[in-house]
Amino acid sequence: MNRDPVEQTTCCVVGAGPAGALLSLLLARKGIQATLLEGHIDFDREFRGDTLHPSTMEILDEIGLADPLLRLPHTRLHQLTLQTKTDSFTMVDLSLLKTRFPYITLMPQAQFLEFIAGQATKYASFTLHMGAHARELIMEDGVCRGVRYQDSNDNVHELRALLTVAADGRFSRLRKLAGLEPVKSSPPMDVLWFSLPRRPGDATGFAGRIGQGHMLAILPREDYYQLGYVIIKGSYRQLREEGMEKFHQSLLSLAPEFTDRVSSVPNWARFSVLSVESSCLKKWYRRGLLLIGDAAHVMSPVGGVGINYAIQDAVVAANVLALPLQHGAVGESDLAKVQKQRYFATRVIQAFQTFIQNRVIKTALNPNASFRPPALFRLPLLRALPARLIGFGIRKVHVDEN
Ligand SMILES: Cc1cc2nc3c(=O)[nH]c(=O)nc-3n(C[C@H](O)[C@H](O)[C@H](O)COP(=O)(O)OP(=O)(O)OC[C@H]3O[C@@H](n4cnc5c(N)ncnc54)[C@H](O)[C@@H]3O)c2cc1C
Repeated sequence: MNRDPVEQTTCCVVGAGPAGALLSLLLARKGIQATLLEGHIDFDREFRGDTLHPSTMEILDEIGLADPLLRLPHTRLHQLTLQTKTDSFTMVDLSLLKTRFPYITLMPQAQFLEFIAGQATKYASFTLHMGAHARELIMEDGVCRGVRYQDSNDNVHELRALLTVAADGRFSRLRKLAGLEPVKSSPPMDVLWFSLPRRPGDATGFAGRIGQGHMLAILPREDYYQLGYVIIKGSYRQLREEGMEKFHQSLLSLAPEFTDRVSSVPNWARFSVLSVESSCLKKWYRRGLLLIGDAAHVMSPVGGVGINYAIQDAVVAANVLALPLQHGAVGESDLAKVQKQRYFATRVIQAFQTFIQNRVIKTALNPNASFRPPALFRLPLLRALPARLIGFGIRKVHVDEN
């Protein structure tokens, strides 16, 4: 292992997921030196969340990027519908929202991240190191002064920074190094993601199907369906032991329209298993270090809001911290301000997710329970509420151009 010379930046951002990539872009736009470290050598990450909600599209619109992004291949979901054998009802109707983007944009996350990183490289103050793993925090007198990272040739670099932002996702190494422990709750399910071919003329809307103790989410993508088979937490092994044929039967009982392509269901090794988690840090910062996105709070997949909350964190962090960064002094009170603006919104949506998990998903996964949608989804007066919560959260976040 070689040690290279020390590098210097204003803001070291670890992790080029949605949170880290957007934060780096927003800082670079303001002429603030931002160095982004990404452990992977590319942005490819199948089924790592491909949903961009109205909140994210409005944020991108504010910086002139919504229209260029929408020129890339994508599909749109206007409504999220839940179907049982006998009934069908709209859980979330985004077309009720007053916005230019009353839908969820479905786009591969890799494509989205390449787009954001590509925009950031237009600014001289932005630097991106791919294949760069942050290994250690540089701590001096209790203050984080940057990180030591290892590049793809095993060389170790010291990157010193006024502020380090941990946007390194749900298994955040920096969170552990900083000794921060999230408060976890245990949602009752896991999700198996896989895909099946989609043919011309096939259905284009989102459907959640419920029946016989199983649940399936069907998301139409460009030329395939992304399918999320929801299982009781920890039961994946049992499912595998029961065999692929039984899985096919269950899939077809929920979605008989896939009879002609059930042979295309991939083998178990090609399933992406999402161990569903929900957690939140009590404190999102230490001196010289801020955590955002999944590193600060892992979201349940209900509503597909993980990316959007990560992006909103990035916007708030850029709004609050741009001036302190420009003035060369970021205090704990500045970092606390970021948490203060995001904590409540995060906890409210997590409470909403818990409500859906307990009232919808738990019942759906119980073969002996009869399913009835909660009043929130049945009463016309309340119909806009889930759309508003999913689409924007409790309050809109705007990019501060000052
Ligand atoms: C299978 C699956 C399906 C999902 N589906 C959805 C969905 O449909 N909609 C949705 O909104 N959300 C979904 N999510 C959640 C969503 O992906 C996350 O909420 C979102 O990506 C969080 O963004 P982030 O930037 O905080 O972290 P991440 O996207 O996790 O990005 C963290 C980045 O940090 C990098 N990194 C980690 N450690 C280091 C290190 N030491 N040094 C350098 N780099 C490092 C990682 O390689 C990664 O690129 C899904 C998650 C999973 C796992």
